[in-house]
Amino acid sequence: MEAAEVASKRSKHDGFQRAADDLAEREENCAEWEENLTKRCVQDPESRNDDSSDEEVQDEDIHMQQHEQVPEQRDDIVDNANVIEATPTQSQVKDPSDDELDDDTEPVDPTLICADLAQGAESQPIPVYNAHNDARIPASFRYLRTSVLQTTGARELAEQGTQAMRSRGFDICARKRHKGIGPYRFNRTLKKFDTDGILECGAVCSSNQQCAATRVVSQGLTLPLYIKHTGTDRGFGVKCSRGILRNGFIAHYTGLGMTDSEAEQLRCQDAYLFGLDSFVGQHHAARQSTEDVDASRLPVVPETAIEAWSDDLRYLKLKEDDLPTPSPLKHKTHESHIVLDAQNAGNVARFVNHSCKPNCRMQAVLTEGDNGLWYKPALFAMTNIKADTEITYDYQYEVGSSAEALDCNCGARNCRGRFK
Ligand SMILES: [Zn+2]
Ligand SMILES: [Zn+2]
Repeated sequence: MEAAEVASKRSKHDGFQRAADDLAEREENCAEWEENLTKRCVQDPESRNDDSSDEEVQDEDIHMQQHEQVPEQRDDIVDNANVIEATPTQSQVKDPSDDELDDDTEPVDPTLICADLAQGAESQPIPVYNAHNDARIPASFRYLRTSVLQTTGARELAEQGTQAMRSRGFDICARKRHKGIGPYRFNRTLKKFDTDGILECGAVCSSNQQCAATRVVSQGLTLPLYIKHTGTDRGFGVKCSRGILRNGFIAHYTGLGMTDSEAEQLRCQDAYLFGLDSFVGQHHAARQSTEDVDASRLPVVPETAIEAWSDDLRYLKLKEDDLPTPSPLKHKTHESHIVLDAQNAGNVARFVNHSCKPNCRMQAVLTEGDNGLWYKPALFAMTNIKADTEITYDYQYEVGSSAEALDCNCGARNCRGRFK
């Protein structure tokens, strides 16, 4: 395996199953969810121009108004539950016939199945629509604005990552790393994708205005994203009701952090796993390389993680050669990396689909408290993206890495046909 470009969707294990299948299975849990959503009302994306073309567009076609926008007050979201529960005063009591004449209330879009997946946790609501079938977001799904270290194993690995960074004096100040001016332009778009990782300054540099300008991923989601069923076996997908600038930040992938072998033991579905293995893989590759590769710019990772990574590769090689499969739990003496599991808890990035011709890609970003084993895989636009176009990235699964082959129906001209 080559050095991971950024961080890859997990590519090693069996048990992959499409998101759509899973969502359909859980429909029975959704009665409560459906009940809640009828209490709210947001604007209908169908009324917008639904152009799904992923072709590159000219700058002038794009409304350049992302990121700096202050989240607007959403007058169109009404919590009817509160209104109903409140005891009406005399002046509020209206003749029922008044309601019939009152057309201020926007009609509820019948395809809206959830008014805000984030339940107020983000600066923008994330509505969910399905005009095609009965698939619903599982009622048990928990929204995570940021990832959580879920297990003791993951917490220990993250701590080792922090220690390694400290012992080598790795400076997290973004301006020192990115030539004094930080990784972003004035319009908060990324200057360039960087396999060595992007740093954002934390509270340590907070008094410095230039350091403050480096915080983009740290500030969270600012775009009006929404989730909508694609009407295909690709299940739900993600779109933005506004144009997105090339190199603009969209969202970072969140989930419950566990070690790679814990995920394997729990038989987590690969479709929702994101491996934070970018830097371990790159350090390993640098070590293997006969050329003089400079790994000094990479966020530091513990030696033990790199050794475990080598063991893992040996194990994969055995599997590929179809030798008697060793027990997946025996091949490791220690852990190599953390994975984010977003099956039951995560954010909007969990619903972004794979494409062989994607319009976005993941960039490893380190903010305060992060390290070479615990960082943020952040989704950035590779091109200007028109409003209401589906957002996609390449999961970088290795084709043939699993016994369970999966056809890719991304529709791209250069589609690999399978993505696992
Ligand atoms: Zn700084
Ligand atoms: Zn494809």
